[in-house]
Amino acid sequence: MTFTTRFAPSPTGPLHLGHAYSALLASDMAAAQGGQFLLRIEDIDQSRARAQWEDQIYDDLSWLGLRWPAPVMRQSGRLPQYRAALDQLIQMGVVYPCSCNRADIEAAAGAPQEGVPQFGPDGRIYPGTCRHRAMSSAQPDDVLRLDVAKAIQRADMTGFTETGETYHGAHKLDPDALISSVGDIILVRRNMGSSYHLSVVVDDAAQMITHVVRGEDLFEATQIHVLLQTLLGLPIPIYRHHRLIRDDAGKRLAKRDDARSLMKYRAEGASPLDIREMVGL
Ligand code: GLU
Repeated sequence: MTFTTRFAPSPTGPLHLGHAYSALLASDMAAAQGGQFLLRIEDIDQSRARAQWEDQIYDDLSWLGLRWPAPVMRQSGRLPQYRAALDQLIQMGVVYPCSCNRADIEAAAGAPQEGVPQFGPDGRIYPGTCRHRAMSSAQPDDVLRLDVAKAIQRADMTGFTETGETYHGAHKLDPDALISSVGDIILVRRNMGSSYHLSVVVDDAAQMITHVVRGEDLFEATQIHVLLQTLLGLPIPIYRHHRLIRDDAGKRLAKRDDARSLMKYRAEGASPLDIREMVGL
């Protein structure tokens, strides 16, 4: 199998130094192995995706010296593929509809208890209010959630190999941790037809990604991705969760941090080599 990495930005704002690091690292790793580097536009959230940002992504990445094969995969054109994966999960009986809004979840979560995690990769861990509901009761406004405990029963629990600095090594999925610190994540968001978690595993498999390179903030989400890959019978790539690029106050960069955007550095006359140096490559 060809050594294949990818960079998968969402076109919801300007790329910053953290994105540059991720993309350059993924591309460098592929080049070092004589492999290929792919680009994927994660635009399932059409309420936030903008053509302007997608164009800027192509422009910034080309300027950095990155090259990728065309056509680029765009998630907005792949709803049938996500639906097919969802149907497989529904058949297994591990999906349920949920009508809870944020306030319902807050109220049901109750007071924090010592030693019990409150937040997972998708924010507050879902307290399970709608878990008893059958798929036949689904309403158009519902989201669809994965019943993690049932999913674990259905999957031969596996694990993944991590090659990043912080979490280097072999990681077995831990059923208790998945239930208590990840919980019933959303598979299909309102008005979206999919979610980040569902789309990313379907697409990494479709693009035959052998090495997923991304920030350490997604390490926890990887457990869910590996569980979904196992349930769906998809290959499990090797992961490299890299250190995060932080601002001077030590805070990780976000899309709204325009001060660290590549556009801004370019406008100030920085070169692609300067960017490499800034991110330590
Ligand atoms: N679209 C996601 C992001 O921009 C990609 C995460 C991933 O690489 O899996 O954070």
